[in-house]
Amino acid sequence: ISSVELTQCYVERMTSLNSTYHAYITCCEDLAIDMAKKSDARRQKGNCGILEGIPLAIKDVFCTKGVRTTFSSKMMQNFVPEYSSTVTQRLEQCGGVFLGKTNLDEFCMGSMNTYTLTSPVANPWNTSCVSGGSSGGSAAAVAAGMALGSVGSDTGGSIRQPASFCGIVGVRPTYGRVSRYGMGAFSSSLDQAGPFGRTVEDAAHIFQAICGHDPKDSTSRAIAPPDVLSIIRQSVKGMKVGIPKEFYEASYPEDIRRCWDKSREILEDAGCQTKMVSLPYVSFSLPCYYLIVCAEAASNMARYDGVKYGVRCFGETLEEMYCATRSAGFGPEVKRRIIIGTYILSHGNYDAYYGKATRIRHLIRDDFARIFQDVDILLMPTTPTTTFPFSQAPNDPVTVYLNDVLTVPVNVGGICGISVPCGVSDKGLPLGIQILAPAFEDGRLFQFGSVLE
Ligand code: GLN
Repeated sequence: ISSVELTQCYVERMTSLNSTYHAYITCCEDLAIDMAKKSDARRQKGNCGILEGIPLAIKDVFCTKGVRTTFSSKMMQNFVPEYSSTVTQRLEQCGGVFLGKTNLDEFCMGSMNTYTLTSPVANPWNTSCVSGGSSGGSAAAVAAGMALGSVGSDTGGSIRQPASFCGIVGVRPTYGRVSRYGMGAFSSSLDQAGPFGRTVEDAAHIFQAICGHDPKDSTSRAIAPPDVLSIIRQSVKGMKVGIPKEFYEASYPEDIRRCWDKSREILEDAGCQTKMVSLPYVSFSLPCYYLIVCAEAASNMARYDGVKYGVRCFGETLEEMYCATRSAGFGPEVKRRIIIGTYILSHGNYDAYYGKATRIRHLIRDDFARIFQDVDILLMPTTPTTTFPFSQAPNDPVTVYLNDVLTVPVNVGGICGISVPCGVSDKGLPLGIQILAPAFEDGRLFQFGSVLE
């Protein structure tokens, strides 16, 4: 099959199904066919990249030169970047074909993909349920067969949680593995791009393509990327798996616990030793995470003032113009985080909130570092519940935040994680199991992930 034929098939699915799932904010049919033609020409010359001709979906937080990039915000609804992110450049260099830009919660703030510029993303397993967020569009696109793979970003779970809700694989690489150049900033010390795939191997190909040092991002690390396509085939026999006791003792629905126990048995059958481990400070990850993200979000959102880019509303004075622009351009969740962030960074509160959160963050990192001297990976569910109907979505933000309890430790702890599908719940909805590996041991995610899928 040629790249053009494959792409045509995905373009057709993307355009016919988008009104049902709302996975894409912008469909780029012409660009996709054009890229596929170029890919076919390369293939004819025997010049193939690792993603040659593969139709991919790109979260609308990655800048794409000449293609509208909205961050799912009214503020940037007509923004057409002059340059491309390193992630999209690398995908293109590896032969990837771009189908379009996927839906997300505004500036990546959210867990249900309901704070969006277009319509909330519906879960392909049951359209009355949420897809998860913030990269819900990228997850739903892959789950619904509207792309072969995709990229998203994970600041506190935004790749792993929607992957789990949509029954696919999602990877949060170690901070510093993938360049953040050209990716809309939400929380600069936690944001990281990563892949979605139907299988661990699909995700490994995309990971391999985007991973590596980039001189344009001073936080990207100059260390050689792991060869995940070979690590994925290595045996896990004799390796050690930790079950975090503090999380195991919490209460979960029966099907989530079953999925956890079943995954543990699969690893034991594959020759792993499993044991309970204690991570006392990791339990504080959630409050620590929300203090840090709100502070960093407030600071990152300051650039959207109506002067350089995006929407501009009228005001008599400069201050009135800022105020009118930001009132009209930002949605409720972004405003909430700006207010919380500004409060905790203000004089008199900084030390009590932000300063304390950064100190706790170090204790969490130390907790992981200590435990990873004893075990190779940690195993736990990705989410405390399966997906749920839009009609049962919590109205109060704090309840929504609490659902991130199992994903945020990876981000705050500076380590890496993968969510792999693990059967279905009693209601027939997908379940996800999560593997956590030490910083820069991203290869282990794929090695163990392929045993569990
Ligand atoms: N749900 C989390 C939040 O709202 C995570 C978001 C993300 O990873 N981008 O902050």
